[in-house]
Order: sequence, then structure tokens, then C-alpha cells
Amino acid sequence: MVHWSLRRHSSWVQLAGHEGNFKPSEGGQILKKFSTVENTCLEALMGDTLRPYVPAYHGVVVKDGEHYIQMDDLLRGLDAPSIMDCKMGVRTYLEEELTKALLKPTPRKDMYQKMVKVDPSAATAEEHSQKAVTKPRYMQWREHISSTASLGFRIEGVTIEGGAVQKDFKQTRTQEQIIDTFLIFTKRQGSILRAYQSRLESMRSALLESAFFRTHEVIGSSLLFVHDRQGRANVWMIDFGKTLPAPPQLALRHDVPWTRGSHEDGYLIGLHHLTHTLQAAQRR
Ligand code: ATP
Ligand code: MG
Ligand code: MG
Repeated sequence: MVHWSLRRHSSWVQLAGHEGNFKPSEGGQILKKFSTVENTCLEALMGDTLRPYVPAYHGVVVKDGEHYIQMDDLLRGLDAPSIMDCKMGVRTYLEEELTKALLKPTPRKDMYQKMVKVDPSAATAEEHSQKAVTKPRYMQWREHISSTASLGFRIEGVTIEGGAVQKDFKQTRTQEQIIDTFLIFTKRQGSILRAYQSRLESMRSALLESAFFRTHEVIGSSLLFVHDRQGRANVWMIDFGKTLPAPPQLALRHDVPWTRGSHEDGYLIGLHHLTHTLQAAQRR
């Protein structure tokens, strides 16, 4: 029993988010810190065409006085998994975050520091004098130095066969850079690239059929690519902390650029470019 729980512990790998947000659980499940938004999404997704693409949801549990969402550990049973987290969409903040920031701008010194560390010329004269930027300003800047704005997704983190987690993809922007990253990530294994491509193609069909997708603005959600030494490969939709029902009069398309008030997220633009990346990688 002790042996089993130690093994469970050491298999946990997290490519994004605060470490304290997750806890291992028993029976191949994990616990993620509760949020009403994410919990409501996972509950709805269990009755949607997207169910096969989402970690199975097992309700809410309380541990040490904290509420958690219990879901399947997507790494369960895998042998030295390689993992990539791609954040989907042409936009990474909610429309309401933008509205709030415009009404009541909160200067963020931490975000200014992160910005000038990457590119001192990115900040305006006013931002330099305040040594602060607003959150949407910082997030929009990150969307443009990465592939988010142009390709509708960006790489957040990668780990290869249990190696160190690499998070240095802030400026990975071009299709060529992304193809190279996928080639390194998969060690050029054609079978893995093909498996990923076909999973994305079936996911696309499910998305087009999905009532959930039609009615939700999917922001800050990721596709988690996972393969292992035995040649198992899969892609999962995760992280619904910023996935909100769109205003009922809007029918979202997900394949058009965002304009303010449209609530469009560009999710299918990202999926298209990811599929293209996998096809191009197979020809290299
Ligand atoms: P952020 O919003 O900053 O991206 P978060 O706290 O919402 O972070 P997630 O993005 O849901 O957290 O997950 C963070 C990481 O944890 C993922 O990149 C992935 O590596 C891992 N992870 C999340 N859910 C699962 C799961 N069900 N099984 C295995 N790994 C998971
Ligand atoms: Mg995430
Ligand atoms: Mg999140």
C-alpha cells in the first residue's frame, strides 16, 4: 500500500498552474482545487458528445477542509509519459476581465517586470514611468509574442519521458518553431504524430456536434498531448476554469477572429493549426 501511494506521488507531473492547486487521490484520480465554473463545465461535459475527450469527472470531495474536483488522472498507467500542454484560443482573458480593467485599471508591477524581462522595448513610456501594466495589456502582449494571436494556440509546457518540465515557450510563435517542438517532443515517431492527428480529427467532429461547445466561450483551456514509451498516445481537453456560457442570443462559431463583444474564442482556429502542425511534422 505504501509502495503504491509513493508510486502515485512520483507519477504526478504538472505543466501549468499553481502547484498547490492539485492533490493526488486514490485509484488513478486527481483532485483539483474547486471552482464553480470548472465544476459546472465538467458536470455538463459528462452528458455531452465531448465526454470521451475530457478526463472523467467524479464529483466534489472535501479534504483537509478544502473543496476539490475529483477527476481521472490522465497519466494513469503510462510508462514514462511525455506531455505537452497547449493553451487553446486566439484570446486568453475573458471579456469581463477586459471590461473591468478598462473601468478600473489596476496597475500590476509584477506583470510589468515579467514583460520588460522578456523585452524592455515592449512597454510604453507611460508604463515604464509607472513600472506597471494592466492585466489585459500583459495578456494581450503575451498573445502576440506567442502563437496565440496568429495561430489560435500556444505551447505552455513540455516534459519528455519524465525529464525536467520546460516552460520556456513564451516567444515560440511561428509554425516552424512549433513543428520543431513537436518533432523533439515526439522524437519524430510517425506513429505518435499520426495518432495525435487522428485524435484531433475525431475531436473536431465531436466539437462540431457538441451542444456544450456551441454555447460556451472556451478561454484558457488546454489540449494535453500525452504519449508514452509503449507507443500509447492521446489528446485530452482540460482546464475549464474560464469556460463560461455565452450570452444566449449568440451562436458561437469558434472559427472566426475575436472582436469585442463577440465572445468568440478562436478555438477551432487553434485546432486547425495544430492539425496542420502534426501533418507538416510527418513530412519532415
Ligand atoms: P492554469 O489556469 O494556470 O493553466 P490550472 O490551475 O487551471 O492552471 P490546469 O491547467 O487544469 O491547472 O492543469 C495544470 C497542469 O496539470 C496541466 O498542464 C497538466 O500537466 C496537469 N493536469 C491537469 N489535469 C490533469 C489530469 N486530469 N490528469 C493529468 N494531468 C493533469
Ligand atoms: Mg491550464
Ligand atoms: Mg486554469
